[in-house]
Amino acid sequence: MDVKVLYNISYGMYIVSSNKADAFNAQVANTVFQITNDPVTIAVSINKLNFTHEFMKSSLQFGVSILSEETPLNFIGNFGFKSGRDISKFKDINFKILNSGCPVVLDNAISYLEAKVINSLDCGTHTLFLGKVSDSAVLRPGKVMTYEYYHQIKQGVTPKTAPTFIKEEISTTIKSEVKMGKYKCSVCGYIYDPQKGDPDGGIAPGTPFEKIPDNWVCPVCGADKTQFIPL
Ligand code: FE
Repeated sequence: MDVKVLYNISYGMYIVSSNKADAFNAQVANTVFQITNDPVTIAVSINKLNFTHEFMKSSLQFGVSILSEETPLNFIGNFGFKSGRDISKFKDINFKILNSGCPVVLDNAISYLEAKVINSLDCGTHTLFLGKVSDSAVLRPGKVMTYEYYHQIKQGVTPKTAPTFIKEEISTTIKSEVKMGKYKCSVCGYIYDPQKGDPDGGIAPGTPFEKIPDNWVCPVCGADKTQFIPL
């Protein structure tokens, strides 16, 4: 099998949210698809280990916030590389609680949907949830972030729990980036490229890793500078 073929499949970037009674959780997902239009149903694949999976199983409802291209990496990292078991992901962000009690994230979202789970399929490591859309709203104009844009332009990385994580992704990246003064985050795999810097984090393009202030953190997962290893 040539795993590179899998990179040719297109996806978007979404925050999938749910509730368990009064508690909220949310995570990044790229596998959200419309399945039928009468009724309007969508499907999403969620790792069984994820806290959000537990919430969706409990409340049988979920929200989907569709992210804009301007979404900062650290916002995606907060939802994608951290667990709601360890931190409150809804602290310091704007969100809305729908009539059903389901939360939806508003920050960096162009629009949102809410869906009621009407079926699910056990897919081994993941559950494919099928939901009937019960609410939706457009929040503002803008371009939606595709999965490709996240990887190519934002230099984002994929968590191991994502349905589309490819084991060879990190090793292949390392092989091609050797000898270029780059540093890799040992927690999430993000690679700091001095030529690109980290403009969202206040690091100008052309800044060598050694010149980055000590209080700088990984734009994806929030790990500190000491967690980076030279390539
Ligand atoms: Fe990181």
